[in-house]
Amino acid sequence: MSKYVIGNLKMNLSSLAELERYFKTLKNELKGKNFKNAEIIICPPAVYLQNFTQKVKNKKIKIGLQNIFWERNGSFTGEISPIMLKNLGGEYAIIGHSERRGYFGETNEMVNLKIKLMIKERLMSIFCFGETMEERGAGLTSGIISSQIQEGLKDITPSGLEKIIFAYEPVWAVGTDVIPTSNGIMEVKILVRKILTEKYGMKYAQKVAILYGGSVKAKTLNQVCLDPGMDGVLVGRESLNPVEFLKIAKSLDV
Ligand code: PEP
Repeated sequence: MSKYVIGNLKMNLSSLAELERYFKTLKNELKGKNFKNAEIIICPPAVYLQNFTQKVKNKKIKIGLQNIFWERNGSFTGEISPIMLKNLGGEYAIIGHSERRGYFGETNEMVNLKIKLMIKERLMSIFCFGETMEERGAGLTSGIISSQIQEGLKDITPSGLEKIIFAYEPVWAVGTDVIPTSNGIMEVKILVRKILTEKYGMKYAQKVAILYGGSVKAKTLNQVCLDPGMDGVLVGRESLNPVEFLKIAKSLDV
């Protein structure tokens, strides 16, 4: 299975000048580079979706959004639907990111509705889950992750599972420069694989990609991805720097 390298640009690149600078650096960095075993996906702010699908999307790089809504169209002020994503050339959406859960009240039920519509539209969901520091401290990590996954996958069939990439993002590691041990990450990977095996059977569960996200940097890739045998990484801040982001992609393109 090739490794996923997903960049979440979050609410950045606030001016067109910054956006152009980003494109220029990315283009320069991509020159002469080939990625055989790394799937690179960049998720820009939604207002730039078309700029990215027109200027960045190619054989090496796919484009996604950082959030999505669970209805096709209608009176849902401020929301963006999977149909719009698809029509503008995007193929992925991050769903259930801890910042959306924490600041905007996204629940497991909402995550489930979003994933279900993405599946219907044949689009890929990047399903984020993970525990807070308080939950970890109280010994609740596996219980929290189990319910996030079980509720997020409610009524989703094995063929739907093929349209989901799982991303373990411990909330305490996102944006903090604190990272878990390789063993801690591996334990969660085993837990997720077990939940999926019980629900869908080994045949489907073993095909699923399980990524790590939270303060990923090129120099910590061994600890957070290679040693625990993850299927790739979800990168926040470091993805704003195309040099570092592609360094991560190159290291995983083995
Ligand atoms: C993220 O936003 O998903 C993330 C992992 O952020 P960072 O890499 O900045 O911790």
